Amino acid sequence: CAVHLADAGLRVVVLESSDVPGGRARSWADPATGLEVDIGPHVLLNKYANMQALLERLGTAHQICWQTEELLTVLDRGKHLRCKVGGLPAPLHYVRNLPQVLRNVPLRHLLSNIRLGWRTMRSSPRELMALDDQNGRDYLLSAGVSPGFIDWFWASAAMAILNVPVEKCSAASLMRLLAQGLGHNDLAFGFPKVGLSDLYAWPAIRVLQRNGSEARFGCAVNGLVRHGSNVTRVTLADGSSVEASAVVLAVPPTAIESVLPRQHSLTKTAAGFEPSPYISCYLWFDRMLSDARFWARPWSPGCFNTDFYDLSNIRDGTTGRGSMLATNIIWSHRAAELSDREIIDATLAEIADFAPAARQANLIGTAVHHIPMSVPCATPGIETRRPAIHQEKGLFIAGDWVDTGLPFCMESATRAGALAAEQLLAERGITAKLALATPVPGGLTKWLRRSDGPDGF
Ligand SMILES: Cc1cc2nc3c(=O)[nH]c(=O)nc-3n(C[C@H](O)[C@H](O)[C@H](O)COP(=O)(O)OP(=O)(O)OC[C@H]3O[C@@H](n4cnc5c(N)ncnc54)[C@H](O)[C@@H]3O)c2cc1C
Repeated sequence: CAVHLADAGLRVVVLESSDVPGGRARSWADPATGLEVDIGPHVLLNKYANMQALLERLGTAHQICWQTEELLTVLDRGKHLRCKVGGLPAPLHYVRNLPQVLRNVPLRHLLSNIRLGWRTMRSSPRELMALDDQNGRDYLLSAGVSPGFIDWFWASAAMAILNVPVEKCSAASLMRLLAQGLGHNDLAFGFPKVGLSDLYAWPAIRVLQRNGSEARFGCAVNGLVRHGSNVTRVTLADGSSVEASAVVLAVPPTAIESVLPRQHSLTKTAAGFEPSPYISCYLWFDRMLSDARFWARPWSPGCFNTDFYDLSNIRDGTTGRGSMLATNIIWSHRAAELSDREIIDATLAEIADFAPAARQANLIGTAVHHIPMSVPCATPGIETRRPAIHQEKGLFIAGDWVDTGLPFCMESATRAGALAAEQLLAERGITAKLALATPVPGGLTKWLRRSDGPDGF
């Protein structure tokens, strides 16, 4: 948001409460090893149009390693399922995976999704939104999906993408994902080759500085001052204040109450966003474990990690020096009482299930990051409650949780920033088209889908 506004000629001051930039997508040098670690491993999708445009603007788009050979490998009941896309037009592009999937899942379970798939492809964006008050599991059952398939696939999809169990997730959030998944035959994951702060946060700050704008750290905002209906300044926790003719509150829902009064409608809205906690683990080995960049395990309540990244196969200059494994325990309540040692032991065992060489390798360093909120949980009703960006005169909000039409993720945060910049400029009479549209399902799905708006997703 700040980069867009500075590019448009405004002087922007970014006030960041932390000592480092990047928020929930930041990185730092691990104190024990000196190696750059992210708060937790992050992936991009090639459908992240706004994020990719930002990286282009910052000159760091080349720092993404795109995995185009296959979508992902899933370790399921001891077998490596290599999921590929491409080939036939969407939604037929998944057909090529059938022979391997049928080794793990009976055909009748797969077929139980046909009504759901057809119904979702036919649905307009508004019809999908109308499912927001239902939970994912009940909706899938009502659409005829077998309990076995829900446990095998949908529980993992809800956890990995929406960061919440399928029985606690909004059916609208889940079906919007299905509509996208059925509508693109060219999905690819991308992995940052550098720490997240070096990917976009520091480069953004350098752009601001070149434009006469600035970022200040250790500056927690704790209030807004108005004169009449105009915002005139923000107050800081250290008692000082900063003049401002407009404010973009780009803070997560959990921080709104520290900035706005309790009775403000946005404070009440934000209180309804439940955090999904993560535990991210880093394990450094004395040897390479495999040549995989990324693999996943299906979610189950008895396991911990769902996604695994070998950074030594991703980051430049690290190949061959021993595997650097980064993993995520999503919705990590079940691990909250465990010690870091117990978490590392469980993670090591899960890594060895995929890469048996881990059993012989020596661990030369570990780190465990406890993250109170990765993203808000996509619980029933959440899509309807996502707030508008333009709150009142001179006051805008941004961040992954505002109404962007996207799941809570980096692309949603980046799109929100562009939309907030657009709307702030519009209030000053400046027309700018900065935000890129959300992806629209293509292939055969395009012809099936009922439309009720130009930018419904
Ligand atoms: C471990 C982990 C893994 C993830 N994996 C992925 C992934 O693979 N792909 C993906 O797309 N997304 C992923 N996400 C989600 C992604 O990181 C977030 O959606 C995104 O970073 C949110 O950005 P944001 O700008 O909305 O909020 P934030 O990054 O939280 O930024 C808000 C900023 O506001 C600051 N702040 C708060 N209060 C105040 C105050 N009072 N005054 C001043 N400053 C304040 C905070 O310090 C913070 O820097 C992951 C998140 C985590 C934690």
